[in-house]
Amino acid sequence: MHDRASGLPRSSTTSERGLTRTRTQVVIVGAGPAGLLLGQLLLRAGIDAVILERRSAEYVLGRIRAGVLEQGTVDVLHQAGVGARLSREGLVHEGVEIGFRGRRHRIALKELAGKSVMVYGQTEITRDLMDIRAAGNGKTVYQADEVALLDWQNASPRVSYRKDGVTHEIDCDFIAGCDGFHGVCRASVPSDRYQAFERIYPFGWLGLLADAPPPWNELIYANSERGFALASLRSPTRVRCYVQCSLEDRVDQWSDARFWEEFRQRIGEGAIGDLARAASIEKSIAPLRSFVVEPLRFGRLFLAGDAAHIVPPTGAKGLNLAVSDVFYLYEALRDHYRERDERPLDHYSTRCLRRIWKAERFSWWMTRQLHQFPGDAFSKRMQETELEYLFESRAAQTSMAENYVGLPL
Ligand SMILES: Cc1cc2nc3c(=O)[nH]c(=O)nc-3n(C[C@H](O)[C@H](O)[C@H](O)COP(=O)(O)OP(=O)(O)OC[C@H]3O[C@@H](n4cnc5c(N)ncnc54)[C@H](O)[C@@H]3O)c2cc1C
Repeated sequence: MHDRASGLPRSSTTSERGLTRTRTQVVIVGAGPAGLLLGQLLLRAGIDAVILERRSAEYVLGRIRAGVLEQGTVDVLHQAGVGARLSREGLVHEGVEIGFRGRRHRIALKELAGKSVMVYGQTEITRDLMDIRAAGNGKTVYQADEVALLDWQNASPRVSYRKDGVTHEIDCDFIAGCDGFHGVCRASVPSDRYQAFERIYPFGWLGLLADAPPPWNELIYANSERGFALASLRSPTRVRCYVQCSLEDRVDQWSDARFWEEFRQRIGEGAIGDLARAASIEKSIAPLRSFVVEPLRFGRLFLAGDAAHIVPPTGAKGLNLAVSDVFYLYEALRDHYRERDERPLDHYSTRCLRRIWKAERFSWWMTRQLHQFPGDAFSKRMQETELEYLFESRAAQTSMAENYVGLPL
């Protein structure tokens, strides 16, 4: 079968001494949610793609990360054909709570913004996407070492990698850099070709995962004098809880007992239930960062997801932004192959960045209002006043709700 746009075979393989050469339409670097979702959307559109992932599938599935999905994300997952288990097992949340000075204030998301969010773990989305890719015979190379981007600035890019001691080279039309913040794609672009915007926060989040029924019905974000805490969940039998911690802290300094005692003091006695007895199945510390790179397109290379931007997790936007980037990239590639229309590819960066910056603003705002920052008394008063205004003003709550459930795609 030939590709209408390039006139070349969609996929082919040749073998030379010590090197295999393959051709595909799109090489996707990274099998996180961004790469797997793009692969699935392209597969359904009949566009050939190969995913290269440096880790094993088990390792990727073992990473505990996001859990709150916007309605737009849920819609894209349905469009990709991976909505069935999500519909059965995902938990619809129509509100969130903010704890402050010993009181909890509910933000009625559905009532104020007309939409809800869905709680469904990133690990489950990844598993669903891996399963459907395997069923559709989509090619994913796990444990692909030394992935390198070649000639991405001209019309015939290539990507090479090593696997089991053999070097492989893939000729392609486009490269999708879905390889996260520490990946090779953005790092391959000379730094004078883009502008990076960054803010690093002076604290981290210590997260604990435990198999225990959550004693809360909706997420609780708490601003306490001892620091931020978040009561979250992944399913009706699994909690995910966080406390703001020092960047110098190590996980081994935090026994389960210490974590739960700190969590209790920050979130309030009424919210902790029997959790103090729940044993952790995972604990990790994540630094908090805001980061955006502009533009997202470099010749034939397109960045998507954490490769292009990072948000602090307070607004639950990281995964949702990865999904919107991927959706825009999928639409642009589809129009290129089906209609020979280059405009959506040309506008990809601008289209993504409009949404990215709004999510960055909201994540920064949530982080600013809910954590204890080192700093002056004026900033602290501003934070307190901002929260009081939020609790008193329906307009302020509507603004928060509109952003939390996700701006339109
Ligand atoms: C510890 C942690 C906790 C988080 N918690 C939340 C949360 O609670 N809520 C929220 O909304 N978001 C959260 N996030 C953010 C969210 O998980 C990310 O936004 C999301 O994973 C982005 O998906 P992605 O596919 O773009 O990147 P990733 O998930 O990072 O996937 C990138 C993939 O590329 C692979 N890769 C990297 N380099 C190479 C290479 N050279 N060659 C081949 N493959 C490569 C990686 O192994 C990885 O599998 C969290 C992130 C972290 C790190």
